[in-house]
Amino acid sequence: MSKKMLCSKCKTETATLILPRDQSKVCRECFFHIVEDSVHRAIVDHKLFTSGDILAVGASGGKDSTTLIHILHVLNEKYEYGADLHMVSIDEGIKGYRDESLDAVRRNQKKYGWPLTIVSFKDMFGYSLDTIVKLLGPKRACTHCGIFRRQALEVGAKKISATKIVLGHNANDYAETTLLNLIRGDLSRLKRGSTIITDSGYGPARIKPFKYVYQEEIVKYAFLKKLDYHSVECPYAVNAQRGLPRVYLNQLDRVASWSVLGFIKSNEQLQINEKKKKKLIANKCIKCGFLTSQKLCQGCVLRQKLDDSFSQLTIKLEEVEMEEVEEYVDEKEKENNFKKERIYEKEKVKVKINEKVKEIQKEKEKEFEKEKN
Ligand SMILES: [Zn+2]
Ligand SMILES: [Zn+2]
Repeated sequence: MSKKMLCSKCKTETATLILPRDQSKVCRECFFHIVEDSVHRAIVDHKLFTSGDILAVGASGGKDSTTLIHILHVLNEKYEYGADLHMVSIDEGIKGYRDESLDAVRRNQKKYGWPLTIVSFKDMFGYSLDTIVKLLGPKRACTHCGIFRRQALEVGAKKISATKIVLGHNANDYAETTLLNLIRGDLSRLKRGSTIITDSGYGPARIKPFKYVYQEEIVKYAFLKKLDYHSVECPYAVNAQRGLPRVYLNQLDRVASWSVLGFIKSNEQLQINEKKKKKLIANKCIKCGFLTSQKLCQGCVLRQKLDDSFSQLTIKLEEVEMEEVEEYVDEKEKENNFKKERIYEKEKVKVKINEKVKEIQKEKEKEFEKEKN
């Protein structure tokens, strides 16, 4: 950027930043205002929540959720939304990763003064994500984690009687989901994935105020505001299926910055033939009561899989132990038999020697008798 270029918005301050969504040159204050305002517009235009709503904001300690918490805090004071703000964190049980990001969540809890509720996989399902990966392998770690996290977040929200769950999904996440569902040919998901409010009618609705904010804008905002977040990526994220669409969108973004919002707008305007839409059957899981289209919810199916895998592992461990015990017994028996044989041999030799000695004695006695005679 050349020196002393004026901000394209206020036309008074020096432009120091490029706005990712349209590549315009802006000053710091205008950048903050643009990002905050697009969150405010999303909240107001889509009536995401109203005064008196209890909001359970998903707090992972990462960049997106930390920035979301900060902006909601700023806007709630500025526009007097009157929302009751809470943090809900999920402890998946990922050693060296989640424990550190939860420390960031706790520091932010002190900073903003919101109540914090933590729900752990281990307490709720009996298995930490580290154990799940050990039992089922790392390949579908993100899918398994997603199933449990969804339910854990709802349980956390219900604990505080939340009326809405607030998630930090940004514009790039929306574009990625759109692309992923297009690739999969999943039209029902394609449409459902485009909404800013997801309300199944059971439990609190999920709202996403970052829908029109670019990933890069969140990165810049968090950096410039010096927000306290944990920047390490989850060790299991390398196995996520989103890899390719993400790489593709990043490449596209370099030559066409509007493509992210383009994907979102296209999806919003898409009309899907009602006949082609899969009807969502809403049942309650016969085991836990969670919303599902099957008899058992995905969480219960996964838990059953883990229980089976765990019991198979225990059987295997027992088998190994039994084999070891049997080998040990065999070894000892052989040793004993060997000893017995050696004793027997020795005895045999002794007997033979004695016999020989007796023979020699007898012969000597005979000789002696002969001589006497
Ligand atoms: Zn400006
Ligand atoms: Zn269930």
